[in-house]
Amino acid sequence: MKGNEIRKRFLEFFKDRGHTIQPSRSLIPEDPTVLLTIAGMIPFKPIFTGEIKSDLKRVVTSQRCLRTNDIENVGKTARHHTFFEMLGNFSFGDYGKKETIRWAWEFLIKELKIPKERLWVSVYEEDEEAFDIWHKEEKVRRDRIVRLGSEHNFWAIGPTGPCGSCSEVIYDRGKKYSCGRPTCGVGCDCDRFLEVWNLVFMEYNRDQEGRLRPLPRKNIDTGMGLERLAMILQEKENTFDTDFLKPIIDYTASLSGVGYGPDRIKDLALRIIADHMRAIVFLIYDGVLPSNVGRGYVLRRIIRRALSQGRNLGLAKPYLHKLVSIVIDIMKEPYPELSKDKEHMERIVLGEEKRFLETLEQGMKVFDDLLIHLLREKRKEISGEKAFELYDTYGIPIDLTQEVAAEHNLTLDKRGFDMAMEEQKKRGRMAWQEIGQSRVKTIYNRLAKELKATRFKGYDRTTLKAEILAIIKTDKRVKKAKAKDEIDIILDITPFYPEAGGQTGDSGTITKRGTRIEVLDTQRPLPEIIVHRAKIIKGSIRKGDKVEAGINIGKRLATTRNHTATHLLQGALKRVLGRHVRQTGSFVSSDRLRFDLTHFAPLTDEQLSRVEEMVNEKIRKNVKVEVSMMDLKEAKKRGAIFLVGEKYGKRVRTVKIGDFSLELCGGTQVEATGEIGLFKLVSESGIAAGVRRIEALTGKGACRFMKEI
Ligand SMILES: [Zn+2]
Ligand SMILES: [Zn+2]
Repeated sequence: MKGNEIRKRFLEFFKDRGHTIQPSRSLIPEDPTVLLTIAGMIPFKPIFTGEIKSDLKRVVTSQRCLRTNDIENVGKTARHHTFFEMLGNFSFGDYGKKETIRWAWEFLIKELKIPKERLWVSVYEEDEEAFDIWHKEEKVRRDRIVRLGSEHNFWAIGPTGPCGSCSEVIYDRGKKYSCGRPTCGVGCDCDRFLEVWNLVFMEYNRDQEGRLRPLPRKNIDTGMGLERLAMILQEKENTFDTDFLKPIIDYTASLSGVGYGPDRIKDLALRIIADHMRAIVFLIYDGVLPSNVGRGYVLRRIIRRALSQGRNLGLAKPYLHKLVSIVIDIMKEPYPELSKDKEHMERIVLGEEKRFLETLEQGMKVFDDLLIHLLREKRKEISGEKAFELYDTYGIPIDLTQEVAAEHNLTLDKRGFDMAMEEQKKRGRMAWQEIGQSRVKTIYNRLAKELKATRFKGYDRTTLKAEILAIIKTDKRVKKAKAKDEIDIILDITPFYPEAGGQTGDSGTITKRGTRIEVLDTQRPLPEIIVHRAKIIKGSIRKGDKVEAGINIGKRLATTRNHTATHLLQGALKRVLGRHVRQTGSFVSSDRLRFDLTHFAPLTDEQLSRVEEMVNEKIRKNVKVEVSMMDLKEAKKRGAIFLVGEKYGKRVRTVKIGDFSLELCGGTQVEATGEIGLFKLVSESGIAAGVRRIEALTGKGACRFMKEI
């Protein structure tokens, strides 16, 4: 049975049982605190934790996933991968254990006709209910049901939150795959007993004190590796021989002229490359570019690991980019859009390959110098620190360092290297946490709970009467403030736009009789509250005062012109450069706009002038800008542009400019494009591999610029 067929059968099976088939989500989760989609349940995490309410009851998916925690095992075992697909059926407060177990069993033995004799089942040692369902209702023999402890069969979302027992279905591949240890059995981590399907019964919530309380709505989360299932059904030795990965191995083998099978080192290299190549393609597909931070660093490391394996195959020149099309061929059935991004992906991979090979060459020179130095000093060992530096700065793999060291009769401090590596991983985790959890001051957390949410009326009002709900001075809440004080003010209602989506916050004034406060900036530290960063020029204020809030209109209008212009700019870029163009960042203030996009090469003068002309043509046509609220689903269906990795609610604000542009956007917009007046590109540059930055002016700023040149 072909891999694609297995996926289809799974989705259909659960569709027939009342599940909605949902498409695979991005590898970049909507939840900003999670680095990557590591399991099928990640997209539904906010539903499981109760963070968002959803009408969904039963869902089935084949979710693309990426994990790096087992990366060192990839290729060495029959089953570890970085990229993989996870088949899963989910129930949100709908069906329970009984149905979950019945359908899992039915799917495996009736639908896929996997022989019963091959299957084992494990349950959590205290879960009598699950044991009984397997034994009494599904007629699984007692001696085929294994009770395992919490380290195997109890699942938790984190230290607190939803959790519950699990039950697993295990496939016995037979004695010849056993590690041979007397304890080898279900739960052993060798290649004999293969965990096929994990059924999680989310029945409890663990509170701060560690107590388990039953959840009001019990949930089901299941996960089954598609590649593993394919390996069983296609009767292969390992997942690499299935039709998901074998064509990549075959092609790489043919590129290098080596065979697959006879040589352990070469086979390992081929498997690592095949695995990593799928991760590379899908990371780029989901908008990640190689860099030194966060997900970009994950991608860079995977590309480098794959590339350095080429050395074992005699592939010295860039070759990974040639494998992009093979991966697309395998995956285009569930992901028809992959083909459109082919050239973009190839260029990014090739660029990174070249960059890495250059660095590697530099690194080898540094390595040579080090060797000369060590030998002259009659030293016997390369320190772990040095080896790590070679690896971290120049990408020289540790096994290469080891090999070269051995050639010169030097030993290598592997422990020191491992320690340095561990340190770096720790630093990486910390850096990520800092990005993920916005450091919102506790004062705002408290205020957000106490106060009513600020009502924002700035889309159609520039001045408003408002009441002062809170005054914050140096992180403390105060009752009053006087002249010269620098304070944060929270109002019940405001026309001030808080910095968001790349658009800077409004400035302006807050006044009452005898008092004048200058608002320098507006921020939204939490969704509920808008904070006016202000300085009292004269007079004083108290909590509860009625005031007049008015924005600096000239500055707002200039910012708005720039904002709508970024929408036109994006529309033009997609038409001139191609649909692979994605916004990776933007900055819109009153005096200029900046737009970062994914594109591999510098834009030519001709492309730049076409983009500029296209935007100006739309301005001259004075196209109406229509803002409306709609369901996220509807917006996606209409092809609206939304930012990868951004979190969106169910109802979204969309901005439509004729048939030229449709974007999800919360920023302020002109009523018709004519207000922008004039659009002038002022610079184009590269800021990272595959990312270009464009800066432009509109309105008065553009006119002034034209006069000066
Ligand atoms: Zn074993
Ligand atoms: Zn916008």
